[in-house]
Amino acid sequence: DDWAAAVAAVRDLPADARVLLICHVNPDGDALGSMLGFGLGLRRLGVRDLQATFPGPAEVPEPFRWMPGVELLVPQDDAYLDPDLVICFDAASKSRLGDLVDRLDKARASLVLDHHASNTGFGRINLVDPHAAATSVVALELLDRLGVTLDAEMATGLYVALTTDTGSFRFEATTPAVHEMAARLVATGIRPGDISRRVFDTRPFGAVRLFGEVLGRATLEPAAAAGHGLVWTYATHDDLARHEQPAYVLEALIDSVRCTEEADVSCVIKQSGEAEWAVSLRSKGAVDVSAVAVALGGGGHRFAAGFTGRGALDELVGRIRAELATATLIAP
Ligand code: 5GP
Ligand code: MN
Ligand code: MN
Repeated sequence: DDWAAAVAAVRDLPADARVLLICHVNPDGDALGSMLGFGLGLRRLGVRDLQATFPGPAEVPEPFRWMPGVELLVPQDDAYLDPDLVICFDAASKSRLGDLVDRLDKARASLVLDHHASNTGFGRINLVDPHAAATSVVALELLDRLGVTLDAEMATGLYVALTTDTGSFRFEATTPAVHEMAARLVATGIRPGDISRRVFDTRPFGAVRLFGEVLGRATLEPAAAAGHGLVWTYATHDDLARHEQPAYVLEALIDSVRCTEEADVSCVIKQSGEAEWAVSLRSKGAVDVSAVAVALGGGGHRFAAGFTGRGALDELVGRIRAELATATLIAP
């Protein structure tokens, strides 16, 4: 099966094999944590020629720069052009890989580790578990099957990934198995308090002021999402510049917006180019935002999804509204 094939693909690597780890664009805690945690596991197995990278010119977001394994990261342009094996983390489709698709296509073998139900199976070998709370669940399973002994450095990345995608054990995907995995990771000696503070609770003061401004213009539309409430806001490059903040600080914005009691659906629109916007969508359980995102050219999970939108902001909001007005409701 796929697990056996994945184990063989790693175990049978020649000593001089070049292995490239990649993940989705604008990498989050799951993408980076799974990739670096697994990468350190490969190191333990004796893989010497090992690089990790992510699409685009962006730097590693500050909240993740301290993670063990960051030394494996190289800029996209410096990454192996024709690796023997590419392992891809937390990406549902090739469209999430930017220019790195080339590396994947040119590699002698490719292995996809993911947990999106919408995963297109674009690897030679695909380990996709839509029931997994994070890609790091799949990554740990593979490390176990490879016989790698878990240590604190590996566990750190896997824990960052698990806490990111479960909202620190608050979301529906937080099963007994998630807590059992967390227990295993914490038992290696990692410090959950330290990790959470660095990843979730440390931002420059300018980001606090920026959030104040952006949250101050949030709009509530009480019945816009198939009869349920919609809350949305936006942030431009100019907002970032005025507060001298890097783009990554906006990733946490959706968490401040989605607590709105009157809205089932929350939406944050972040400028990503001249007339290009990265849109985040969240649902509290009534509306399937994954279907909405897919209709607008993106993807994701039922309760957390996104897409890249083009054009003027008001037109984009119009398209989102139109899609939400007729959105699929999830049976209670
Ligand atoms: P976030 O809002 O945190 O950026 O993304 C939430 C989820 O939506 C991600 O886990 C990812 O699956 C999906 N997603 C976000 N942006 C895009 C996009 O541009 N394209 C696709 N296909 N999925 C996206
Ligand atoms: Mn992700
Ligand atoms: Mn994920």
